[in-house]
Amino acid sequence: MDNLWRKICKDLEKELTAYAYDDWIKPLRPISFNENQLTLSSPIKFHANWVKDHYLDSIKTIAKKVTDNEIDIEFVVSNRRDLDFEEKPVQKKRVPLFSSMERKFETNLKPTFTFENFVVGDSNRLANAVCTAVVKSPGTAYNPLFIYGTVGLGKTHLLHAIGNQVIINKKRARVYYTTSESFGNQMIEALQNKTMVKFREKYRRIDVLLIDDIQFLGGKEMMQEEFFHTFNALYDAGKQVVVSSDRPPDEIPRLENRLVNRFEMGFLGDIQIPNLETRIAILREKRKGFSIKISDEIITFIAERIKSNVRKLEGALKRLAAYVSLDPDTEITAGIAEQILGNLLTVIAEKNISMESIQKKIAEYYDIRVADMQSKKKPQQIAFPRQVAMYLSRMLTKASLPEIGNSFGGRDHTTVMYAVSQIQKKIDKDKNFSRTIEMLTKKISAAQ
Ligand code: ADP
Ligand code: MG
Repeated sequence: MDNLWRKICKDLEKELTAYAYDDWIKPLRPISFNENQLTLSSPIKFHANWVKDHYLDSIKTIAKKVTDNEIDIEFVVSNRRDLDFEEKPVQKKRVPLFSSMERKFETNLKPTFTFENFVVGDSNRLANAVCTAVVKSPGTAYNPLFIYGTVGLGKTHLLHAIGNQVIINKKRARVYYTTSESFGNQMIEALQNKTMVKFREKYRRIDVLLIDDIQFLGGKEMMQEEFFHTFNALYDAGKQVVVSSDRPPDEIPRLENRLVNRFEMGFLGDIQIPNLETRIAILREKRKGFSIKISDEIITFIAERIKSNVRKLEGALKRLAAYVSLDPDTEITAGIAEQILGNLLTVIAEKNISMESIQKKIAEYYDIRVADMQSKKKPQQIAFPRQVAMYLSRMLTKASLPEIGNSFGGRDHTTVMYAVSQIQKKIDKDKNFSRTIEMLTKKISAAQ
């Protein structure tokens, strides 16, 4: 059973981000494995529920791959440490003696996100400039720094770049990267384990706190309260705080005013969608990471067809690289690229897709009335299709956020932004849903 869990963990570690893995998977312990049911223990209920909601599908899929069987996963809440599970029984690396004296401050930084490989264009020039300024003199001019923009535009990249550069300049600086989600989770665990003092000490020792996706704190009062105090302690001590969000502070639903005020007293820098020139430059930069040849012509082709999200641009390159690695002699032409990338190339703007046709197709698919797209009603069975339609309007038409909002019953552009990010998240997480979106995209463009 331990072995099975170890194998599952190994694959999960590859699939999840390091912090998701550390925060949510690592605390789980295998308890029993009978008749294709694997029981895992989690330290607290909140943790177990979170894992169920967010990672159960991944765990099941991997368990199936590992065992060739459908595996049921059960959770029990237990804090028994005698269940301790030795994660890596392999020989431990011999560590030089002095390392204990020089224990490094845990940073969570990804070394691959740097300023050198961040391409600067009009869309992110300001954000990049203030981030660089923060590195030069942390805790002074731009404090706190609040970076915002929709998904996949480089916020996380910039946060890590700041951290990495600060450490290069000053090796002993205590830099810490985390997401607000992870902050909240650490806090809850500390509450449960009665280790709040330690939790607070850890955060108050930081010189540069990089906290990603702060919008997650919306509506979470206890976490906001704790973050407020952490923030004040650091700020008062002249320490740097950098925050990212998918929208400006005053547009985060249910974020307390005192936090909004704190963020607004610093510097707000936004990142926009990159123009064609910048997208080409980003792709050329990313191309360096692949051993295969992809011509400038193909780079331009991709940049013209994928517009709204840098992560998608990268995804396109990865897909081409995977294809070429199967047959290294293939010369990629625009035609081949189009075939391989097919459903990624959602920008079919030449076809002049209208928002009406998107609303119609989506309403049909989810079996709601087209009028519901514009209505003020909010039940989930209407709200969700509406978000899907907003997302596809953003991806498939040239309409701006306010224009999309207007076509959906005069909604605010931030509502559209929110819908786009929610749907994008679901696409990233849920393969079936991602296929549904691909299928709907094809349907819509075929109907033109
Ligand atoms: P966000 O946090 O805004 O959702 P990320 O920082 O995760 O976006 O960026 C998504 C991907 O796009 C990352 O792999 C990142 O390296 C890349 N990326 C985004 N903007 C740039 C840029 N200007 N130059 C190079 N890479 C970029
Ligand atoms: Mg991010």
